[in-house]
Amino acid sequence: MVPGIGTKVVFERNELDRLITALRERQYRVVGPTVGEGAILYEEMTSSADLPAGWTDSSQPATYRLNRARNGRVFGYTLAAQSWKRHLYPPRQRLFRAERAGRGFRLSGGGGDEAPMAFIGVRACEMAAMQVHDRVFTQDGFTEPGYVRRRQAAFVVAVECAHAGATCFCASTGTGPAVGPGYDILLNEILDAGRHVFVATAGSEKGGEILAGLSCRAPAAAELSAAAAQPASAAAEQQRRMSADAAGVLSRSAESPHWDNVAGRCLTCGNCTMVCPTCFCTSVEDVTDLSGDIAERWRNWDSCFTIDYSYIHGGSVRQSGASRYRQWITHKLASWQQQFGTSGCVGCGRCITWCPVGIDITAEVRALEDREQGR
Ligand code: SF4
Ligand code: SF4
Repeated sequence: MVPGIGTKVVFERNELDRLITALRERQYRVVGPTVGEGAILYEEMTSSADLPAGWTDSSQPATYRLNRARNGRVFGYTLAAQSWKRHLYPPRQRLFRAERAGRGFRLSGGGGDEAPMAFIGVRACEMAAMQVHDRVFTQDGFTEPGYVRRRQAAFVVAVECAHAGATCFCASTGTGPAVGPGYDILLNEILDAGRHVFVATAGSEKGGEILAGLSCRAPAAAELSAAAAQPASAAAEQQRRMSADAAGVLSRSAESPHWDNVAGRCLTCGNCTMVCPTCFCTSVEDVTDLSGDIAERWRNWDSCFTIDYSYIHGGSVRQSGASRYRQWITHKLASWQQQFGTSGCVGCGRCITWCPVGIDITAEVRALEDREQGR
């Protein structure tokens, strides 16, 4: 029987292979957490052997380590280094190709021929980040067709966090650790004495159909309560929080002397914007071959931390590091609200972990707040 939306079932750990196979049989390119380059990476996978069973990660400001865990937990890490943004809104995308044909040009290459993707292991903050991008890329008729196409075709297997990383703060941004709506299947991994199972919730008809093909049973009461306890336990572990008045503090802090303090530490490297699941700045470049017969237009990820990003005729608007950091954090936490009706931060903590000098977005807001209140 196909589990209806909201129905919970349980399957054993070894059914993960059948889940991946079922998705591949439906022509999805399955992307999930893998171990590579000393980190968790969201990459294409062909079987459950690609999943990071027995690995965990630890994050601190400017520090990330991948460690062996003493258990076989499959989703025992917190987050991949990069987010799903890399797949839904690729770092480098050809917008079109123009090839000389007689007296004119033949246009091609705008995309649209990729296989649909199935994402395995989407966390609550990442689900929220996709929903932020859904607004950014579809608001007021300004639609990013490639994103919309990939997103609408995607199948999402979310996994709820049982533990939090040291740089996580989604509980204070209201974007986790409980996974919100939008998934096709939600998993809670239960690993205790002699038991390694997944409590699965169908979030869509497609999700229910996939679950119907696995060997599932009804959950025991203890399994349901273990799954339900996971988000609260992950929230209790979070050591950081974002101020509830972040938007107000930033709106009132344009002239704060604190920006020079941050600029004394910030390298304007743009790492924070690259790893952020919601940052979406891009630039466009045109390239041609030497004969002039072929021209291509490419869109590349860019960053408001580069001096060129604010270049208009005559020079860059934001010349100083202080003005560029202020731009990033004020847009993310304050003016994003006016533009898109939501914050641009989902509390994943990646910008803290991957900042080479450990600048912490929650601490910078707190410092601005302290200055404002004369503390
Ligand atoms: S600003 Fe930092 S914590 Fe917030 S969503 Fe972006 S990377 Fe994550
Ligand atoms: S805040 Fe950190 S990661 Fe972001 S640009 Fe500055 S140094 Fe780089």
